[in-house]
Amino acid sequence: MRKKRQITLQGIPVSPGIVIGRAFVLDDFLHSTIDPVQINPENVERETARFRDAVEKARDKIRSFRNRVLHEVGNAEAKIFDSHLSILADPEIIGKTIDDIREKQMNAEYIFRSNVQRIGDKLRQIPDAYIRERCSDIDDVARRVINNLMETEDDPLANLQEPVIVVAHDIAPSDTANMTPQNVIGFATDRGGPTSHTAIMANAIEIPAVVGCENLVSKVSTGDQIIVDGIKGIVTIQPSRKTLSEAQHAIYAYQAFISGLSKHEELPAETMDGYEVGLAANIELPEEVKNIRSHGIDSIGLFRTEFLYLNRPDSLPSEDEQFEVYRSAAAAVQPHPVIIRTLDLGGDKFVSTMPMAHEINPYLGMRAIRLCLQYPELFKQQLRAMLRASMFGKIRILFPMICSLDEVRWAKQIYEECRAELRKHKIAFKRKIDIGIMIETPAAAVVADQLAEEVDFFSIGTNDLIQYTLAVDRGNERVAHLYDPFHPAVLRLIHNVIRAAQRAGIWVAVCGEAAGDPLMAALLVGLGVDELSMSPIHAPIIKEVIRHMRLSDIHELAGEALHMKTGKAIRNYLFKELRGMLPHSEWFIHDVDAWHANEMRKETTEA
Ligand code: PEP
Ligand code: MG
Repeated sequence: MRKKRQITLQGIPVSPGIVIGRAFVLDDFLHSTIDPVQINPENVERETARFRDAVEKARDKIRSFRNRVLHEVGNAEAKIFDSHLSILADPEIIGKTIDDIREKQMNAEYIFRSNVQRIGDKLRQIPDAYIRERCSDIDDVARRVINNLMETEDDPLANLQEPVIVVAHDIAPSDTANMTPQNVIGFATDRGGPTSHTAIMANAIEIPAVVGCENLVSKVSTGDQIIVDGIKGIVTIQPSRKTLSEAQHAIYAYQAFISGLSKHEELPAETMDGYEVGLAANIELPEEVKNIRSHGIDSIGLFRTEFLYLNRPDSLPSEDEQFEVYRSAAAAVQPHPVIIRTLDLGGDKFVSTMPMAHEINPYLGMRAIRLCLQYPELFKQQLRAMLRASMFGKIRILFPMICSLDEVRWAKQIYEECRAELRKHKIAFKRKIDIGIMIETPAAAVVADQLAEEVDFFSIGTNDLIQYTLAVDRGNERVAHLYDPFHPAVLRLIHNVIRAAQRAGIWVAVCGEAAGDPLMAALLVGLGVDELSMSPIHAPIIKEVIRHMRLSDIHELAGEALHMKTGKAIRNYLFKELRGMLPHSEWFIHDVDAWHANEMRKETTEA
């Protein structure tokens, strides 16, 4: 058999490290292969019955979601599922599939998928956001029916024989919640931007990842050997012997570099002139708490609690369950603090156990604090759990996606109600708990001086601040080259926030991915940020960067950067200045940002 040619694709590096392994292509029913199978005429009615059963099963499932939402939330929210049920009664989709199975005498999954694709292709040509949303409803429902027909596992990663590199068109944050370093050693996707929550999860489970490769899935089959280079953002399919041996060498060299850094684990993140920067961990999953020390970090600067809500088919986490998670995180890191963020669902994180409507612009919709203020009981459960857990360590509470003073006051009022309820039931909690807000909308950054009067600290969420300031969807690879952390507008907003915090005498952290990027981290410290909170995997490198610099120098660099006119100029300037100051910088300061990935995104093939 002739060996396949090597194919190299450039994407966006989002989680460092290099890995060689076998690809596992996650089934994406619209893009995956479903073979046509001819059916004997005498079995055709049995095939239509099999199809009807699969539809009925999907209908039962949706009805049970609908009923639960109806009882637990309300009629208006339950109506969301009516549109899904109506798809399963649509003659153009269901009736036509039955007719076609009879006429063409082919397997139900093949006929059904072709029909759904045909309808989707037609609808997608209409430039209307509502219709596009309707397409994803149809896809959702169709996926359920196809899974029933093919008796596909709910979790396709459940029965792997060996760890794999997951390759997919896209991976939802809820899919990544099932991945562990034991079953998945890397991933690469067609879609996704540098700070999508999928990318963030790759950092959390500490596996190399490349996103935004655009047409990877069509070139890889399950079982192909591939290399994912999460440092340079390169994916190599069926590597040649030469490429394999180069990758092997790079893996050894990178490992040697990383283990050299671990010698600094116990040292503070202190500049050469004696200024100590706070370093903290961003965590998504409760299990991560126990690993942060091994990355040289003591505290948690951002606990994204929504991952407790994902991947639960039947229920939301109870107050007691949450209390137990927060208690154990607080106890594990005390006397150091843990900053727990209240629920940030919406955007790209959805759960089937809540009435979350399909929205045309979910990042501008019912997300984060807006959702919590709309469902105060849900919000209160979480706040009470945090208050109760405060007795076991140093808990700080963080409200996400704040846009106005009113929202902060309203959230604080609900928090006060929770305190009163606990007091009434004689349940203990700490009297003084710091309350902070995320500054991740341009509105909050502009009125930071007013917001600073209301809270004990700010945490700047650069992931969203960049997306909302530059009007660039953080998860969309097509505009990833416009997602520029160094853009002067972003820097000016951050500068404004830091000055407002300093004037009000409150401290300010950055907890977006920028905190874990060496060039951005240096710039942020130079601008006056007190703490950098990041995926723990980045902490040893950021500590190394800080320990090789003088505060006076980075102040100067930041001052210069603020006067520059383009993001590219600022990035290049920092790149040149820092490369000279830092040993082994080739492993962590590189030219491949999203911008370059876009310019280089071309495929190369080798014999
Ligand atoms: C951010 O927006 O920078 C942030 C830290 O929050 P998330 O990435 O969870 O939206
Ligand atoms: Mg955010």
